[in-house]
Amino acid sequence: MQKWVEVNFYKCDPEKCDPEHGICIAVQKCKYDILEQEEPFEVPMHASRDMCIGCSDCIKACPLNAIEQKK
Ligand code: SF4
Ligand code: SF4
Repeated sequence: MQKWVEVNFYKCDPEKCDPEHGICIAVQKCKYDILEQEEPFEVPMHASRDMCIGCSDCIKACPLNAIEQKK
């Protein structure tokens, strides 16, 4: 069964995890460019669910546990 991830918009807070630049750490960790952050300090979006392999790298990288795995 395919796995993917979703950003929990209630938990995600780019300003908290990178006060200076507002850059999403989890986006940087995804080797497949599945997560996208259009602008600094914006909540990242899941760009392409079909391409996500459920590797959990983004989940591990997020300091606020804002990314949740779905099945
Ligand atoms: S998903 Fe996690 S790492 Fe990315 S901006 Fe939100 S809280 Fe920060
Ligand atoms: S689970 Fe892996 S492939 Fe899917 S968005 Fe996160 S880092 Fe990218």
